[in-house]
Amino acid sequence: MRRIPTVLSLAISAITACLFSTSVLAVEQVINLYSARHYPTDEALYSDFTKVSGIKINRVDSDDAGIIARLKAEGSASPADVILLVDAARLWRGEVDGLFLPVKSKTLKAAIPGQLRSKPTDEGTAWFGLSTRARVVVFDKLKVNKADVDTYEELADPKNKGQLCIRSGSHPYNLSLFGAMIEHLGAEKTEAWLKGLVDNMARTPKGGDTDQIKAVASGECGIAVTNTYYLARLMRSTNPADKAIVERVGVVFPNQQSWGTHVNVAGGAIARHTKNQVNAVKFLEYLVSSEAQNHFANGNNEWPVVKGLKLDNPALNGMTGGSFKSELVPISAVGMNQVKVQQMLDRVGFK
Ligand code: FE
Repeated sequence: MRRIPTVLSLAISAITACLFSTSVLAVEQVINLYSARHYPTDEALYSDFTKVSGIKINRVDSDDAGIIARLKAEGSASPADVILLVDAARLWRGEVDGLFLPVKSKTLKAAIPGQLRSKPTDEGTAWFGLSTRARVVVFDKLKVNKADVDTYEELADPKNKGQLCIRSGSHPYNLSLFGAMIEHLGAEKTEAWLKGLVDNMARTPKGGDTDQIKAVASGECGIAVTNTYYLARLMRSTNPADKAIVERVGVVFPNQQSWGTHVNVAGGAIARHTKNQVNAVKFLEYLVSSEAQNHFANGNNEWPVVKGLKLDNPALNGMTGGSFKSELVPISAVGMNQVKVQQMLDRVGFK
């Protein structure tokens, strides 16, 4: 008589186990993130999101172009839920190519100023700026006068011959800067300006922005172009070698007396074929929370996009003295100019 309850209890426990594992599967939530954010400090951002939401992040890292190519190749079979890119023109490209799912989110709309997200359509908004970075000039304080490098135009002036170090012209950060220059100067003058940059180069473009700053500090070049967060990272470093670099270089936010310094946007979008829209939107909304925005500001030394957030970053505040004038160029114009820029680079021999 003892066998029956045993069988029964086994059956019950089997059913319970089944139910339990089903419920475990149901609560195990994951979003697939395709990210071009190549900053190790972002790890904390993702783990904090998992902590507050219970949603895990499965990340695929690539650069902007790699992510766009992958989304196109995967088409409707793409497992991507959220996409993070680090260049305004690439965000524009993704939208134009229909890779993003426009969404309506009161939280995102309220948090992000209109010029830092794509123009909403009836469907919603295709992408959202999450942080900004300026493209500035650093110079060797021993060899170069700040007044000779305080505009982008002067970087191409013969007075700066043999001084300029800059990464590849085809890198998105430069394509966007040059695309914005077309809006300020017109195509003809921009091409002449690019030719002037090539004439002024200390060496053929190589390496990333940090390598250009280091080349100024070592005396190989007098002037370099960099995104602000690379410089801020060195400024905040406790490594004596980094401190020595920072000691040697000055920074200038170009064109403060004219159109303002070029600013680029890093941002996010929902993947067109997501099967996980609710959680994907939750993640983007998390990225405009004060915690996440503070993380962009203090973790990766970017400017937050959310209005009214006090920036508590001594390196960024020290560079600007609190604020600076940034250019006002529509991101769509910068995006549309990219093909033109690439053709100009080929013609003037900008590697
Ligand atoms: Fe970068």
